[in-house]
Amino acid sequence: MVFVAPRFGLDYNRIMRQYRNVDPQRATHALEVRHDDEIYRIEIKRVATARRFILRVRNATRDAVLTMPQRAALKDARDFAERHAAWVGARLRRLPESVPFVDGALIPLRGIDTRIVHNPLARGAVAQGESDGAPALHVSGDAPHIERRVRDWLKAQCRADLEDAVDFYARAIGRAAPRIALRDTTSRWGSCSSTGALSFSWRLILAPPDVLRYLAAHEVCHLVHMDHSDKFWDLCRSICPETDMGEAWLKARGVQLHRFGAT
Ligand SMILES: [Zn+2]
Repeated sequence: MVFVAPRFGLDYNRIMRQYRNVDPQRATHALEVRHDDEIYRIEIKRVATARRFILRVRNATRDAVLTMPQRAALKDARDFAERHAAWVGARLRRLPESVPFVDGALIPLRGIDTRIVHNPLARGAVAQGESDGAPALHVSGDAPHIERRVRDWLKAQCRADLEDAVDFYARAIGRAAPRIALRDTTSRWGSCSSTGALSFSWRLILAPPDVLRYLAAHEVCHLVHMDHSDKFWDLCRSICPETDMGEAWLKARGVQLHRFGAT
């Protein structure tokens, strides 16, 4: 969601009064605006090609970012942000609720709603099972450790699924399976470096298995075509029939995966 400035408003006296209270070092990276007793932190990005101020609320990271022209004055940025503080607040409130990894939370493990159940005395850190006849993830240990234990377990599961899929698709195009790394990226679900190293978001374990497998196929195909040309898509569809479904799913629903395990 984007709000574009129709013009820059200027109220220098008011801005300068507020400005004296701001640490200049920090203010170049973020500023805080207030609306209705709420304080919103807005990240500042200077962009050489920006022509005007653009304010966005990012679903994935649940925060606000203000893009501004390289040479624009910070005080104008603050004024712009303050005039749109109510809009920022409304956008943030409309984001889907975050789902921390705690006892009772429902998470879409491999696309299937799975309840986190805290069993302090259970064996092992995390085990897949059932609770009241429904899929559950039993987590042992102290409650404050649930978040980390679930996250570590999900990453291990994601790595195992991705290694299987990458191995499968690499064989399909006659290449050796490359090494993979897991990250918590917000802008891309996977990437392929010029040296052929593949990276993926661990959150793919919260998508249906066909979506994870499609992304593995996608990055493996970049070992052959480092672009998104027709040849690339032809190859991807030829080894992975779920290509179009997976791409559409990530576009439409991928952002939802960032709700889970929010800190
Ligand atoms: Zn790609």
